[in-house]
Amino acid sequence: MLKREKRREREIALERIVYLIERAEKFKNIDYELSRRYVELARRISTRYRVRIPRELKMRFCKKCLYPYKAGHFRVRLNKSAVIVTCLNCMHVRRYQLRDRNVRGA
Ligand SMILES: [Zn+2]
Repeated sequence: MLKREKRREREIALERIVYLIERAEKFKNIDYELSRRYVELARRISTRYRVRIPRELKMRFCKKCLYPYKAGHFRVRLNKSAVIVTCLNCMHVRRYQLRDRNVRGA
């Protein structure tokens, strides 16, 4: 396949990822299971086309169980140097360092 085509393919993949995560956001309070499936699809596209999910989108769902974070299903705690997000569906914990500019783990 031409390099140009491959690039185009990945652009489309990214557009679909963004779209799917937006859908997930929209449906999370209506149909949580469906919402999770959108995230799952976005993840699948991301792996298949090797396109990274933008960080601000990645922070909207649990990377372990893939359920979008929504009121009552996640907990945010602050300590001196980090934001600690706990998914209450699977208890997966993520930490975001506050001082470090290169925030990792997202
Ligand atoms: Zn989870």
